[in-house]
Amino acid sequence: AKDTGRHRFTLYSKEHEDALNARLKVETELRYAIENEEVRLHYQPIVEAGSFTTIYAEGLSRWTNAEGTFVPPDVFIGVAEEAQLIHKLGEMTFRQACSVLNFSRTKGNAPFNKLSINISAIELSRANFFESVQRILKEERASADWFIFEITETSLMQNPEHSLQTLHRLKSIGISIAIDDFGTGYSSLSYLKRFPVDIIKIDKEFIRDFHIDNQDRHFVSVIVQLAKMLQIKVVAEGVENSHQADALTKIGCDYLQGYYFSKAQPFQYFYDQIDAPLKS
Ligand code: C2E
Ligand code: CA
Ligand code: CA
Ligand code: CA
Repeated sequence: AKDTGRHRFTLYSKEHEDALNARLKVETELRYAIENEEVRLHYQPIVEAGSFTTIYAEGLSRWTNAEGTFVPPDVFIGVAEEAQLIHKLGEMTFRQACSVLNFSRTKGNAPFNKLSINISAIELSRANFFESVQRILKEERASADWFIFEITETSLMQNPEHSLQTLHRLKSIGISIAIDDFGTGYSSLSYLKRFPVDIIKIDKEFIRDFHIDNQDRHFVSVIVQLAKMLQIKVVAEGVENSHQADALTKIGCDYLQGYYFSKAQPFQYFYDQIDAPLKS
């Protein structure tokens, strides 16, 4: 029994060590990738319900490591946060977004004129986050009203006083605010009144079975009604089929986002799409 115990301990240790090594490897590679701007934003269109025309797009970070393996953002964003790399990563992707919009806006057939960017709780809680946003906009010759910042409910709750102040300052220069993954956190509806929110993004968890599940349908309907009263726009995330798109349009959801319309694509993809009919 003693041997088994020791054996089990050794096994656990080994697993623990492997996990630490794997994390360290990701951290080392990610640090290098950020220095070399190998993390790139891809863009997923957000369309108007009903007409399905693109209103704006969400920037989502994409990274393929040195071995050519795609590392999902759910993995490397967490590592970036723990390793204090998130500020550099956030700044870099924000600059990419600025440059994409600068280019896009000089073209007549721009695929989108506004971008939504994910801001992590750690970025938001940084003392001089607002100042760094202002500095980047100036350096990149970009305008604040080209942007929507997506913030999760959970990150707002972490430091509500500082978050509230930062959001007000961002709003005062023209940046719009979206609450991401709405419905998954400790949703307190009073926050919608207290925080300067322009957009709510209903989490895909509620959209998946929306067209068949009465409870999800009721939840989404109530949120849409409430948002209308507060003059907040609603985006449904994770729309994968026409049944969901049609039902969401019917209940008055403003905007839709999901694989049914497009997955996130590199910026160039949208111009290739636009050019395709001209070439043929
Ligand atoms: P999120 O902000 O909630 O982004 C939506 C996620 O849903 C994205 O996953 C997107 O690719 C995926 N998605 C879009 N349409 C559909 C659909 O129809 N069905 C399904 N099943 N999924 C869909 P992704 O790109 O893997 O990103 C995961 C999360 O990583 C994001 O969730 C966001 O929290 C975080 N993230 C991504 N890029 C960044 C970034 O640049 N900065 C920060 N701070 N976080 C980021
Ligand atoms: Ca998001
Ligand atoms: Ca989301
Ligand atoms: Ca999410």
